[in-house]
This record gives sequence, C-alpha cells and structure tokens, in this order.
Amino acid sequence: MPLIAGWKSHQGDLPDAASPAFDDSAWPVAKPDAKGNIGWPKGRRVLWLRQWVTIPRDWQGYASAGTRVHLNLIWWAEKAEIYVGGRFVQAGDLYDAVQRVPVTAAARPGERVLIAVKLTSPGHDSGALSQSRLDIDAPAGRTDPGLLADELEVVDSYLKEIATPTERRQWRPALDRALAALDWRALSRRDQARFEASLTRSRERLVPTAQLTRARTIALLGHSHIDMAWLWTVPETKEVIERTFRSALGLMEDHPRLDFAQSTAQSYQWLERERPQLFDAIRQRVNDGRWELVGGMWVEPDLNLPDGESLVRQVLYGKQYFQSRFGRDIRVGWNPDSFGYTWQLPQIYKKSGIDYFLTTKLDWNDTTKFPHRIFWWQGPDGSKILTYFSNLLGAQIEAVPMAEKARAYEKNTGLPKLMWIYGVGDHGGGPTRDMLDQAERLASSPVYPKIEKTTALAYFEQLAAADPKARRFPTWNSELYLEFHRGTFTTHAGQKQKNRRMEVTLAEAEKFSAASTVLQSTAYPAAELEVIWKKVLFNQFHDILPGSAIPAVYEQADREWREAQAAGEDLRTGALRALAAQADTQGAGLPVVVFNSLATPRDAPVALPAPGNLRGARLVAVDRTGKDVPVQAAGDWLHFWAAGVPGIGHKVFWLRPADAPAPATTGLENAYLRVEVDPRTGDLASIFDKRTGRETLNGPGNRLQFFKDEGQYWDAWNIDPDYEKHPLEAPTLVSLQTVEQGPVRAVVRVVRRFRQSTFEQDLILYRDAPHLEIANRVDWQERHVFVKAAFPLAVRSEQATYEIPFATIERSTLRDTPARKAQWEVPALRWADVADARSGVSLMNDSKYGHDARRTDTGTLLRLSLLRGPEWPDPKADLGEHSFRYALYPHPGDWREAATVRAGLEFNTPLHALPQTIHPGTLPESFLQLDNPQVVVAAWKQVEDGKGWLLRLYESQGQPAAARLRLAIPVRSVVKTDLLERPIAALAVQDGQASLQLGPYEIQTVRVQF
Ligand SMILES: [Zn+2]
Repeated sequence: MPLIAGWKSHQGDLPDAASPAFDDSAWPVAKPDAKGNIGWPKGRRVLWLRQWVTIPRDWQGYASAGTRVHLNLIWWAEKAEIYVGGRFVQAGDLYDAVQRVPVTAAARPGERVLIAVKLTSPGHDSGALSQSRLDIDAPAGRTDPGLLADELEVVDSYLKEIATPTERRQWRPALDRALAALDWRALSRRDQARFEASLTRSRERLVPTAQLTRARTIALLGHSHIDMAWLWTVPETKEVIERTFRSALGLMEDHPRLDFAQSTAQSYQWLERERPQLFDAIRQRVNDGRWELVGGMWVEPDLNLPDGESLVRQVLYGKQYFQSRFGRDIRVGWNPDSFGYTWQLPQIYKKSGIDYFLTTKLDWNDTTKFPHRIFWWQGPDGSKILTYFSNLLGAQIEAVPMAEKARAYEKNTGLPKLMWIYGVGDHGGGPTRDMLDQAERLASSPVYPKIEKTTALAYFEQLAAADPKARRFPTWNSELYLEFHRGTFTTHAGQKQKNRRMEVTLAEAEKFSAASTVLQSTAYPAAELEVIWKKVLFNQFHDILPGSAIPAVYEQADREWREAQAAGEDLRTGALRALAAQADTQGAGLPVVVFNSLATPRDAPVALPAPGNLRGARLVAVDRTGKDVPVQAAGDWLHFWAAGVPGIGHKVFWLRPADAPAPATTGLENAYLRVEVDPRTGDLASIFDKRTGRETLNGPGNRLQFFKDEGQYWDAWNIDPDYEKHPLEAPTLVSLQTVEQGPVRAVVRVVRRFRQSTFEQDLILYRDAPHLEIANRVDWQERHVFVKAAFPLAVRSEQATYEIPFATIERSTLRDTPARKAQWEVPALRWADVADARSGVSLMNDSKYGHDARRTDTGTLLRLSLLRGPEWPDPKADLGEHSFRYALYPHPGDWREAATVRAGLEFNTPLHALPQTIHPGTLPESFLQLDNPQVVVAAWKQVEDGKGWLLRLYESQGQPAAARLRLAIPVRSVVKTDLLERPIAALAVQDGQASLQLGPYEIQTVRVQF
C-alpha cells in the first residue's frame, strides 16, 4: 500500500510532532515530484512527515486480519527518526537509508496508526523521501503470497536466462500451471479461504521446478563496510565500530545463520585498548569460526597513491596484528571500496600469504563494464591471485535482486553458487534483524535457490578447487582502473605531499638507523618507527589520502602527519649525526659529510645553510682526492655538485676558499640542454636537447592550463569529464627575471597570475644535471577550477609509461576505444615518460599523482595535474599556499636507457649535508651497496623479531637482473623471505657478499645476519 501521496508535511523542527495528540491540521499535504520523491532543501533542514494510516479490511482483496504489517522507507537524509503510534522505533542516516520497520505483528482491520518521520537533509544536497509503503507478510502457517510471488518471478527468470532448452521444455509447463492455479477471482470476491487454497495449490505445482532453481546456491556473508573517517571524524568511527560489532555479536546469539566478516586491524586494536570485554567476545566468535577476520591490512587504503613499501607495511603490520592477537593467518585480501587498484597488488598479496582478493568498486565505472566476476589477477611479475567481484556493499537480503545477481554471475562464470555480502555499511551498521528474518524466509522456501552461510575463505577455497591450474577462470594482467573518481589523484594536494614526504623520511630513517646500529651498536628505534608507520598507514585510508573527507578529518590527519614527520626527521637526523661523528673529516677546510640513502652511487646537487664564518666567501668543495668543484652562494644557502657519493653511504667534502672565480653558466644552458623562456607568457619556448640534437617541445611548454571543473555530484572525487571543453583564460605574466646565475646553477623566476591566484615558478638548471627543475610556490584561491602543467612534446608515441608501486605500467595515448578514452586521467607515482624510437622525455614530480598523455598529430601532449578546487565535502579544499616541484628530463633512448626510475627516486630523495668539526673516524664510505642500478633497495630495516636485518629490493625496469650485495660488515648468512619476513631459502654467501637474481618487477626480501 503506497503512502507517498498521503504525507502531511512541515519544514522545520517542532517538539511533540511525533505525538498522536499533536494537531497537524494546518500542515499541507506534501506533493511528490515527477519521480515520486518528496524533496526539501539542502543544508541540514528538518522535514516532518505525518500520516494516520487505517489498517484496511483487506489489501486488494487479501484479508489483513492477523497479518504482519511493515513500513518500507527509502530516504536521502543525513538523519532520520521513525515513530509509530508516537513511539520512537528506528533511526537511520545517509548510509542506513533503507528501512523496513514493523508497524504491527498482528493487524486489526480498522485500527488507526500514526506514522511520523523526522528527516534532516544533507548539508551538501537536498533531501528526498523516495519510497514509503506498507507491506504485509502472511501470518505463520499460511502460504505467504509475497514469497510465492518472488518464487514465481525467480523461476521465470531462471527458465529464461539459465535453463537449457531441455530444462525449459520440462519446467515451463510447471510454471504455467502454477500461475494458472492462482484464483484471482477469489481475491476480488474477498473469498480468503479459496484464495489461500489456490496459493497452496500454486506452490505445490511450482515445487518440481526446484530441480532447476535449487541446483543453485546463494551463500550469505554478513559484513559492514566501515570508513575510518569520511563525512565524520575518527572519534565517531570508534563509536560506529563499537555499535556495529556489538550488534553483530548480539544477532549471532539469536541467528545461527549469521556469519560476519570484518577487515581492518586498526579497528580491532582500538577495541582491544578501549573495550577489552567486547574484544574478548569477538575473539570467542573468531575461535567459533563465525567471525571471520579478512583483509590483512592495517586499514583499507587508497590503492593508487601509496608506494610499494607502504603497501607492504599495510599487510605486514595488519597480518602481524591478526596473527599475534587471534592466531589467524589472513588469506583473504579485502578492499572493496578503493578508487582503483595498482597492478602490483597481486604480488604484494601473494608474497604476504594472501591468495584471494575480494573487491567490487569497478562496478562504479562510468564507461565500460568490467568483464569478469571471477578472475586470476596477475601482477607485473607474474604473481596471480584469485579475485572475486562481489555485489556492491551495503546490500539487503532481498529475494529478487539476489537471484538476479546469482543468475548473472552464473552466466558470467558458469558457477552455480554466489557469495552475497549483506549488511549496512560505510558508517557501520551491518546485518539487521530484518535482513536475517528475510534470510530465514528465503531459506524456508522449497523453490528459491538454496540459502547457505559461508565465510569468504571457504568460498574462495571452493573457487580455487574448481580451478587448480588457473586455466578455467580468465586472467587479467593489468591494473584495475576505476573509471570514475579521477579527481582523487589531485584533490587535497597537501595530503598527497605529506604522504610522499613521509615515505621518503621513513625509508631514510630506517636505512640510516640500521647503518648506525650495525656499525656503531646504537639502539635501533623499532618501536618508534612502528608508531610512525601506523600513523602514516592510517592516513592512507581510502577517504583520507584521496582528499574526499570533511575538514575536521583533515585537522586530525594534519596533526598526525606533523607528529609523524617530526618524529621521523628526528630519527633520521639522530642517525645521520651519529654516523657523521665517526666519519674521517681530517683535512683542510670546513668538512661537510654528504649522505646518500639510495643503494647506488650518485652525482647530485647538495644544498646546505651557509655557515656564518663562510658567508660571502668565494668557495670550492674539495673531495679526498683533491678534486674541487665550485660552490654557489644564493641567499643564506650554499650549493655544490657532489659527484660519486657511494650507495647507502657518505662522502666528505671540505669547503675551502677558491683561488679564482669559477665561470658562471650563461642563461638556462648546460652541456645537456638549452632552455628558452617566452618573454611574453613565461611559457617555455624551447628545450633543445644537445645530446640528441632534438627540440623537445612542439608548442609552449610548462603552460599552465586552467579549466572549469564543476557539476559533478562527487565533487572532491570526480573531475568534470568534459573539462577540456571548458578552458579558462591564460594566466598573465607578472614578472620574469634571472635570480641566480652562477657556476653551479641558473635560476629564472616566472611569476604569473590567474584571477585571485599566483604561481611563482623557479626554473632551475644545474650545470651538471640533464633535467630542468621547476620549483613552484602557489597561492591558490580558485573554486571549481582545475589546473594542469602542459608539455606538448615533439615525441610521437602510442603509449606513455608511468611509475606505479615497485614497477611501471604502459597506458595508451590513443583514446581510440571506450576503455582507453575512459582513462583520460591516470595515477602515477614519481614520473611519467613518453618516448619514440630515438629519444624521450620524462616528467618527474615530488608530490603529484594525476597525469594525462594524449597523442596529437605532431607529438604527444603530456600533462601533470597540479590543483583542483572542489567544495564538497570540504568547502575550502586546497585553498592557500602550496610548494611542490616537478622536472622535465629529455633523454636519448627510452626510460630504461635514461634510468628514469633512478632519476625519479633521486628527485624525491635529496642528498643530506652535515657540516662537521675535524675529527678522525673509521666510518666506511658505503654501508650497503648494489652493483646493479636496475635493482632498487626500498627498505633496510631491522627484522620484526629484532634478530637480524631485512632488505627489500625490487627490479625496477621489467627485465631480469642480477645484483651483488656488498655490505660494510662481512655477512654471515642471507636468507630469502616472504614479505612477512618468513624464511624461504638460504642464499650463497661468498667473500661476505651475496648474489641476487631478480625476475622482471620482482620484489625480493632478504634477511641478513652479520
Ligand atoms: Zn569506504
């Protein structure tokens, strides 16, 4: 019985409006719009709805006496309260927006019941009541007409879509006979006994078709997606977790059919600390096998933006926690809601003992439909994990939608058993009593597909058993790109930058602490590092790092970032000081110890504050061999070019007075590049690559392109897909001047203005560097404007290469198929590259992620996304100051020959310079070095059990590699481990060195004992 036309309404809150005694005679009747919705304005405004319902004698002829009556509501409201007969019965919110509320357990015709609903509109969107209806269920013992209707519909759809021709011939007549048995005339004559008899007869005739439908199974698993912070803050999340977990435990008491799966180690750790009794009760249910621990990560993170080591730590700390507190080795990966999934995830999962992966977000794609529901997802190294696309989260238990999904799934996979994840989510909730009642109702049906409960692991193990050789299910050998939330690579630039900085800081703090402990027996700060890591891992959550949360979430996140950054820098500085104190700095001049945290020797610029007594002096930096290089003073800083700083190690330079002035460079020109700036616009007019004799640009480079970017419901998440059709005016050039011109580097400053915003860019060219650095200081004041730095390159290529965690990926620049067109904005870590047969150009960055590349008639347009200005859910997202750097690196050959992986790492990991007193020392020049730059050392840390040292390496160019590992202290044993640091095999050690073999993009972890 629809109620939508009968609501009396009032905008604004009133006391007692739910009371039967309240006088609503002055209230108007709400008018539904064309779609049948009752709407009211946004901005957390209250709408009261009241309706007196009289229980009719019959529902279209079906006697109502004794039936169970439910109120069915669906709303779009931030808060909802439902009252029946003046009594509060149920609350809900945006995420818990579908409600089935009991009105009476045994209806009495003629009874009048007041239904009152108080709804509060979302702050950012108008509210709506989109469904309001009364439904009845037959009393126990009678054939339920609603269930029979569901059964008839399901049998019909199975016959049409799944049945073989033979089955169709066999069972179609049974369905027809069942339909024919229904005595509709008895209903119109209100002959209840006769109609009931016809229902029973119809069901009897339908039952034989169960041979078709009950050869199928729907396996149920309860769950509640809980966002760690989103449109609410972390303290509220803790309440949500407690409420949801208590509710699940309570329902388990009464409902043996409920099994419940839940991810996210952090959630359990909060309970362990703050609600120990609840934690123990959960542990009991885990032991019973009814509470399933899944995911194995610290949180469900964003899976485009964190780097490889971050992802490893998500699993390491997550799995370690579950193992230590519950004795469980998690094997099911669980990331249903992240905004796309890096290609490297299969390898990281597989090498962490996770064989299975559950996801679903790609069902949100705006362009193409992802083709598989089950597949082997293959990583760039060849690792494969069995992946299941579940139904969308937040689902109810509903007969027809579940059967539809099961049918579609069987058509796609050939498998007759669907796993259905149900339970209210995002803001917690989980399974409800009504859902479990519905499950019982379906389980009681002799015709509906079989209802079972399952755990995710049990379900996956059955799938794996069905395809032991990985031949039956299709293989997907690429990333899982989400064709939707493309703005999340760019929104809230500050979060992205803090994440990138922490990734660098933590890697360095660990490496230098390890070196200091190994060489100097200082205490390794394992506990401090773990605290910092967990702050970082938390902030990588899939609504924090992507920039899609409310301002209060970022206030807390920023506090955590600041603490983590300060603590990480303290550890790094402490270790560097301890190491520097033992360097041999004896020599003439002021000693400066320069440290390199990368495992290969490098030549790179060094910057250090000018010591007071040397300010204004003309200096050179001299190394131990007596070779000197010029030092350039700029303001309070000194710059020089440090050549040959060993892999994870140090080199001492001495600053001494120069005999003669060193010649300054001229303009923006060195042995590699000649750069020209357009004096009218500040764009780059030319970047001539002297090594290849080629002009790099075929149009104005480093052009700032501004676009209108609005009209998307998911404002922070989505870039307007038509943004290119809405270009805005070019910025105006405010000033262009050379601010440094010395023997080490030249700096040209370009200041431009767009509306209320200012872009100050320093174009920096070192005498010895093959790339042009662009250092930005931006005051950003625009709303709903998207800005990119555009580089039209004179290189024509059908694909661009992008760095992803521990690997690279090629993506098409052609936009010639729907799927390629849909990838009009893509994520990358430190760089993107375009090359033709002769040469190419890499675009490196220190904190940006959004890119696009498109082949044009004459070349390829490569662009870096700089800033956006969404207003929901954070009205001030990205307003204010930003500092970031990017660099253009033209090169002969492709990105492999150009060693772009290393260049990107170096660009993000500057050398550290520590001035010292003169002292003797025995510090080895290299603490740890690899002889093959193709292999990157991502981490050098103490093993989690404290007994030995751990190195994480990866092959970075997609080609097999051999590397020899040399350490400053002779090595006793080297053992290959998985990512959880569990031993796999011992490696041969010769002369204190170990040889490593890595496959393409292989991640290798080794445990070293001295
Ligand atoms: Zn989520």
